[in-house]
Parts: sequence; structure tokens; C-alpha cells
Amino acid sequence: MLSYRHAFHAGNFADVLKHITQILCLEHFLKKDKAFTYLDTHSGAGMYELSASESQKTGEYLQGIAKLWELQQAPDAVEKYLEVVRHFNSNIDLDFYPGSPAIAHQFLRAQDNSHCFELHPTDANLLKQNLRHIRRSKVHTSDGYTGVKALLPPPSRRGLVFIDPPYELKTDYVKAIQAIEQGYKRFSTGTYCLWYPVVQRPYVHQIIDTLNSTAIKNVLQVEWCLQADSDAFGMTGTGMLIVNPPWTLKRELEVVMPFLEQHLGSTMSHYKIQQLIAE
Ligand code: SAM
Repeated sequence: MLSYRHAFHAGNFADVLKHITQILCLEHFLKKDKAFTYLDTHSGAGMYELSASESQKTGEYLQGIAKLWELQQAPDAVEKYLEVVRHFNSNIDLDFYPGSPAIAHQFLRAQDNSHCFELHPTDANLLKQNLRHIRRSKVHTSDGYTGVKALLPPPSRRGLVFIDPPYELKTDYVKAIQAIEQGYKRFSTGTYCLWYPVVQRPYVHQIIDTLNSTAIKNVLQVEWCLQADSDAFGMTGTGMLIVNPPWTLKRELEVVMPFLEQHLGSTMSHYKIQQLIAE
């Protein structure tokens, strides 16, 4: 039984990093006219109302998107992200926060397509509703790990696989890497983005050690911790692992991260950007 609902966390600091990285990867596919496929294994509801009780209960977005919302100047990559969020807000107020499928569909062209997986029946229905006008998108109410495997390689041989598990089950730490490994065997030129939380450091080590033990090459890591590692309950940091990143991504993140640190960070916070596995 799944209990995780992204509505409690939408727009928090982890979403800010996750969605900026997503946009920088998506933009790379637009540099060529040739079609690409966007595959989202854990899609969520697609759109979140920040006045809803879930968002208001945690207030997590106040430490994330809300801190960037009224800034007059930001680096290009952050500005592009803010433009996407603004697209879903009709006035100066920050009322809605788009999830990864809604963000992706801002970049998909007529020749591109997407498959979005969401297991939670309530969120899957919301997602179908939120994407109902987009014909080139298919929503699957099924397991994203196995579903994505069957869709690789995409017909165009160009694709972004976005993997954003809730990690409420510890098996997600294993399944996420297995999904990348199985996908990579079928489609080694694809770009794979995996989001991870820093909740307990040994789980991050487990992901990285497992990834290192595979044949996968060319992995970039960006990690951002707002607090020191802790054994107590709660997420102290967040990270992204990107297989076959756009060649510009590292340089762009090197501009984004100091800016995020300045506006969302604290005296305790720190980040790292590193080529985890060589090309
Ligand atoms: N990617 C979304 C975004 O950025 O807006 C947020 C996704 S949320 C972190 C994770 C979602 O995965 C939840 O909505 C949960 O119901 C769903 N989920 C959990 N296990 C799944 C699975 N095996 N296959 C597909 N969806 C799953």
C-alpha cells in the first residue's frame, strides 16, 4: 500500500534542484529537430495547488520555490525554471507548482512523445486529468520500473528517462539502480536522471556503490545538503545522478548551485558536483 503523496513536498528545495536539472537535460534534446521520448517512471499528480492542506501542512515549498519566486535576477538556468513555474501561475502570486510531467510537456514538440507512470490511483487520476489535452503523452497506472524497460530503446533512439522514486520502501534504492542498469543494456546512449534523498548516508553509499559495480559509464552527480548528515528522521539533503548528461550540464550546475546556496542555503549547507563515473 503506497502512502507517499508528493503534494506534501511539491516545490521544496529538493524539487528545485531536481526540476532545474530536468529542464537542463530536456533543453539539450531540443538542439536537434529529431524526435525524442520522455519517460517518467514516478510521475506523481503532475500539478500541485500550494494552498491545499497538504502543502500548507508541511510548508516545505516556503523553503524552496517561494524563496526564488520574487527574485528579480537569476542565472539563465534558474530563470528558465522560474519561467516554467510562472507559466502555470496566472498572476504574480505563486499558487501552483508543476510536477515533472507538466514541466516536461513544456519542452516536448509535435514530433516528441512521453510515457508517464504513476502507481497511486488518486495521483494517477489527477495526472490523467492534468495531461488530458496532450495527445502525444500516455499515462500508465502501473509500475514504472518494469514499464519503462519495455519502452527502451525509444523508436527515435533519443530519450530521457526520469526516475524519481519516493523511497518509502527501502527496495527503491535497489530497484532504481536495477532500472537504470536494465535500461542501459537496451539503450546505452539514453540520458537517465535519478533523484535521491539524503536521509541516512548509508543508503546513498549503497546507491553509489551499486552504480559503480555496473558497466554504466559517464555519470555526473550533484548533491546538495542543507544540514549535516543525521540518523534522526528527515531529509537533510538531496542529489541527482545523471547518466550520459548533456556535456554542458556540469558547467551549468556550477553556476546554479552557488546561487541556490545563496538564496536557499544556510551556514550548514554545502554542495558538490562531480563526475562520479568517467566517460
Ligand atoms: N516525479 C514527480 C515530480 O517531480 O513532480 C514526483 C514523484 S514522487 C517523488 C514519487 C511518486 O511515485 C509517487 O506519486 C508514488 O505514488 C509513485 N510511485 C511509487 N512507486 C511507484 C512505482 N513502482 N511505479 C510508478 N509510480 C510509483
